[in-house]
Order: sequence, then structure tokens, then C-alpha cells
Amino acid sequence: MPNSPTPNDFHKSIVDNLADGVYYVEPDRTIRYWNNGAQKLAGYKASDIVGRRCYDNILAHVDAQGNSLCHTTCPLAASMLDGVSRDVTIWLRHREGYRKPVRVRTAAVRDHSGAIVGGVETFSDASAVVRAVEDADRARHDALTDELTGLPNRRMFDTALRGRLENLGRYGWQFGLLLVDIDYFKDVNDRFGHAFGDLVLTGVATTLLGAVRAGDLVARWGGEEFAVLVEASDAAGLAETAERVRVLVAQSEVRHEETVLTVHVSAGGSLASRDDSGESLFERADGALYAAKRDGRDRVTIVD
Ligand code: GH3
Ligand code: MG
Ligand code: MG
Repeated sequence: MPNSPTPNDFHKSIVDNLADGVYYVEPDRTIRYWNNGAQKLAGYKASDIVGRRCYDNILAHVDAQGNSLCHTTCPLAASMLDGVSRDVTIWLRHREGYRKPVRVRTAAVRDHSGAIVGGVETFSDASAVVRAVEDADRARHDALTDELTGLPNRRMFDTALRGRLENLGRYGWQFGLLLVDIDYFKDVNDRFGHAFGDLVLTGVATTLLGAVRAGDLVARWGGEEFAVLVEASDAAGLAETAERVRVLVAQSEVRHEETVLTVHVSAGGSLASRDDSGESLFERADGALYAAKRDGRDRVTIVD
């Protein structure tokens, strides 16, 4: 393969071990590379496949109507001709003979001068069972995640809070709750528009994530308000995290085109006690947040 790219061992070991099938063909469609994922999906080992042509009646790709794609509408051959990637569902023939639906993505591979020197196909299992599992995973993820910021949503937060209260009662693992609310956020929307407001929310969310420790949990509680579960054994520890959050937000910027804006947050917090319910803890933290707003914003209030 004089013109073909030569992958280093590091990249090769990554591609070797992808769950997706990956194979590489030369322009005459001789298969030069076949990874472990491809072996798992199609049943053939690299030693069965490498050196053969992909139209040699091995995988025998067909479409939903059973038409053979190999000599007419092979997506990999087409990508090598026009350089355009394709994304289709087809059926391959497993080594054991049965047909397996796979989602196929093809792309041309180019050398440094831009000339097409081969093609790469990746494929993944598209059978209904796999899809159902993936759909369920996605649904679970969507149900627990805030779409805009990617943070856990209120629902996931509630579950985590229940767990922490339980652990506090059972093992004495102490924690606190912080409520963090962006100051004058309505003005941001009014002055710069809702879309910019969304950027501010995602920016603050990212800063919060970077401001807490590994065992802490940041969630979007609603609107422009975030809730944070903080591993802390006393009010001073909770205050330290709250203050770090406040300062880091105040030292961040949200940039978009010509607009550069810094927002501030107020935070209210309280340490959980053994006789707290989620509601009672929230009530105290909310009271503390209210006090921080009332006292001028861009500040932290921790209450017992
Ligand atoms: P304060 O300093 O007292 O917290 O005032 P504030 O303006 O931040 O608070 P207020 O509760 O008056 O306004 C919150 C605003 O947040 C109102 C609402 O339109 C906006 N908001 C809520 N969710 C979203 C969202 O997902 N995206 C955007 N852009 N705005 C949102
Ligand atoms: Mg606000
Ligand atoms: Mg608010």
C-alpha cells in the first residue's frame, strides 16, 4: 500500500478494539484491515477476510428488498468514487449464514494530496433488540438529563438527594445542599435575547461542574437555578465550595460574536442533618438563597 496512510500502534489499537466493525479497502476493494468489532459482528476473523475483495461473496451485502449491493450500488465503492460519505442500513451475511441488519457508514480515505486512496466502512448492529436496548438507554438518559445543559435534571437530583439522606442516617456521611441562582438573569434575556441567555446557562453549568469536587453533584433545578449536593462535614466546608462557585462564575465570561458578558450568582446553602427530609433541607437552603439576594446578590449565605 505505497500511498495508504500508515496508522501508528496507538491509533491502531484503538480502532482494533472498537465495538463497531471497521474495515478498510483499497480502490480495487481488496480488504486490507478488519478490526475485532467486525469479527464479532460478521463472524469472520481478519485472517479469513484480509486480502480478499469485499465483493467476493463473503459479506454479500443486500438491501431491504434482498438486492445484492456488491456489483451495482455498493456504498463503499460509491464513496471511493465521489468522496461522499454514506449512511445506510443493509443486511450482511454472517459467517454462520444468517442475515444481520447493520447500519453502515462509508467514507473515502485520502492521502496528503487529497487523492482518494481507499475507503473505510464502519458498521454496527442494527437488529431490533439492539435498537430497543439503545432506545431504552436513551429514554432513561433523556428522562434524567436537562436537555440544554446536559446536567442531571430535577428528577435525577431528587433521587440522589434521597440516597444522600439515607447514607447520612445509616453511615453518617455528611453533605450539604447549595442552591445557586443567576443574578438578574431576566435582564440578560431582555438585553441580549433568549438564545444568548441559553449560552449563559450552559456556560454557568460548565463552570459549576469545574468548581465542585468529584463526589459532588450539580443539577439544573429549573430556570436559572442550580442545585448542588456537596460532600462537606461542616458549614465552613460547604461555604468554601459555595464561595468557589461564586468566584469562578464571577471570573468567567460568556462570549458570542461581539458580545462578552459576565454574570454573577448568589448561593444559599445548608448542611443536612439526620432529621432532615428533602423538603426541610430545601426550605433552609432556599431561605439562605433569599437572604443572599436580599443582601445584595453576588454573595453566599450558609445557614444552620
Ligand atoms: P434574581 O437576581 O432575583 O434572581 O433575578 P432574575 O432576573 O435572575 O430572576 P427571575 O426569576 O425574575 O428571572 C428568571 C428568568 O429566567 C426568567 C426566565 O425567562 C428565564 N429563564 C428560565 N429558563 C430559561 C431558559 O431555559 N433559557 C433562557 N434563556 N431563559 C430562561
Ligand atoms: Mg435569578
Ligand atoms: Mg431564580
